[in-house]
Amino acid sequence: MNSGKLYLVGLGPGDAGHLTPAAAAAIADSDELVGYHYYIEQVAEPAAGKTLHSMELGQELERAALAVDIAYSGKTVAVVSSGDAGIYGMAGPVYRVLTDRDWDGAEPEVESVPGVSALQSAAALLGSPLMQDFCAISLSNLLTPWEQIRRRLEAAAAGDFVAALYNPRSRRRTSQLDEAREIFLGHRAPGTPVGIVRHAYRPEQAVALADLGGLDGAALGVDMFTTVVIGNSNTYVHNGRMVTPRGYEVKQ
Ligand code: SAH
Repeated sequence: MNSGKLYLVGLGPGDAGHLTPAAAAAIADSDELVGYHYYIEQVAEPAAGKTLHSMELGQELERAALAVDIAYSGKTVAVVSSGDAGIYGMAGPVYRVLTDRDWDGAEPEVESVPGVSALQSAAALLGSPLMQDFCAISLSNLLTPWEQIRRRLEAAAAGDFVAALYNPRSRRRTSQLDEAREIFLGHRAPGTPVGIVRHAYRPEQAVALADLGGLDGAALGVDMFTTVVIGNSNTYVHNGRMVTPRGYEVKQ
């Protein structure tokens, strides 16, 4: 049997400068590309001349199955995600399909190419918010029950973790960010800095700061292109930068 290859490629936040050379090489090496149409458009140039399978949101398992079929047929296929494919990306559905098909771990070859995830892009634009222990929490309850997400928010808040919130607010899911704020306010001061980064490293980029007590998702335009970073109890704002101290002052 012809042995194909499947790449799981993280494209980074959006601009060509943050697409890694390894990601560009994986795309160049591929015969076909599979991914959400918005991300396929993002790599139009390196993808020129390849067979493109653009998908709508919600078709993740179907597209993962298509990509696995292509790889089993002996071709090389790249499945692309924004940021890192292994963080709320296409790696999940692809490994799900491979597991269901009893993949032998070798053929087709599967290789992940890491990308710059949204929390890293957001942190870079905000200052240095992730300088102490942090966590990522997706507020989307499409695949995870809200009760479970609530428990994780509660634990992150109680544990004084800096929290990067992915999928914070959509047209239909408008209450989750407000609930997250209330949970954090149970453990953190209303003045705790919050960074709001929309469309990091894309032409529409917008960066804003708020405080936890005044975190109003609707007024701030928080949507599905936004990552929200909630500081810990030591985070402060200096000249428009969100700073979480590393702790050197304690060491001295
Ligand atoms: N695999 C991606 C995350 C996909 S989940 C990654 O590693 O970054 C989709 C969520 O990621 C969005 O709702 C948003 O919260 C965040 N996100 C992705 N790209 C972003 C960008 N350029 N700017 C801000 N947030 C982004």
